[in-house]
Amino acid sequence: MTEKLYDLDAYLRSFTAEVLSCTPCGKDYEVILDATAFFPEEGGQSADTGRLGGAIVRDVRIRDGVIRHITDSPLPVGSTVSGEIDFAPRFEKMQCHTAEHILSGLFHSLYGIENVGFHLGEREVTLDTSAPVTPEMLAEVEERANRAIWENRPVTCRYPSPEELSSMSYRSKIEIRGAVRIVEIEGIDVCACCAPHVRRTGEIGIVKCISAEKHKSGTRITMLAGSRAYRYLCDVFSAAHTVAVSLSCGNTDLPGAVASLKAEAAQIRTEAFSLVRRLAEEQAKALPETPGSLAVLLDDSATADAMLAYANAAIGKVGGVLGVFLPQKDALRYLLMIREGDITPVVRAFNKALSARGGGKGNLAQGTVPATFAEVEAYFASL
Ligand SMILES: [Zn+2]
Repeated sequence: MTEKLYDLDAYLRSFTAEVLSCTPCGKDYEVILDATAFFPEEGGQSADTGRLGGAIVRDVRIRDGVIRHITDSPLPVGSTVSGEIDFAPRFEKMQCHTAEHILSGLFHSLYGIENVGFHLGEREVTLDTSAPVTPEMLAEVEERANRAIWENRPVTCRYPSPEELSSMSYRSKIEIRGAVRIVEIEGIDVCACCAPHVRRTGEIGIVKCISAEKHKSGTRITMLAGSRAYRYLCDVFSAAHTVAVSLSCGNTDLPGAVASLKAEAAQIRTEAFSLVRRLAEEQAKALPETPGSLAVLLDDSATADAMLAYANAAIGKVGGVLGVFLPQKDALRYLLMIREGDITPVVRAFNKALSARGGGKGNLAQGTVPATFAEVEAYFASL
């Protein structure tokens, strides 16, 4: 059995150990030591990385209860090697994991909700709850969790005797065989857990839940703590500040500033549509009376709205089919109108003759036609 040095001291960064075995594993090697400070991928938390002698430790797995270091080069069996774990990402995970215990402990004590899933990866931390969590519940738990952090409560990890354990009440996701390691956050949570934790809650600094979505019968909460939370809040602050400067307002005034900007944009859009419609109507008024069918090409500054306004204003002057066309990429957008009756046979014949796509009802049809306006005009001349 490999002695779990991380179990005794979560802050141990370097250690020496004897290489018990080293076997090839694909392009890598699987190294077993007599002792290690590397935490393997376990309990939802991703593994530590670092160095062993001259080798890089890419991953650490636990299989059949044995901790296996996946290294990029072999290490001599029987030799003593020094190990060094990448402590910055490890400490970040200790912050996130302890913060997760605080949140889960509070969900449990305040609402009787259990943590039924936990993932602590290189970037994302999620926890899944047994029942739905409302935004109000989440806000309450988050606020209390941060207070518990500022209170700098002690965090202890220990193996109670079987007698003591049988009289203890603690959270546990799975039935555990062998010695049970209990992680206690004073006054907040007692939980069975194998992972390294910070010594006092103050080291977490801050915890922030950034999303909560429905997951199975509960909620999946994405959370950030410690340095991850700080970096995220810096990014959010910087993004908000950039926008606030461009809108000449304070960061916290952004919702109001953006709402008035959107209202202004909607007003401008309404005015622009009205101008485009009036222009189309003016153009339609200039049309001569046409007893037969007529195709008209609008310039590409017109809109679908303007096509309809134009057709409505012009149809009184056209005896046959009125076609209004708008240039599009490699095609023309079309609107076909007759004064009265059913447009269906008209649009069917048009689509068939020019391989167009579209349809309509009543006296109006719309679609696109992969043809030039000259080809369209030739078709209209044949009607
Ligand atoms: Zn845990």
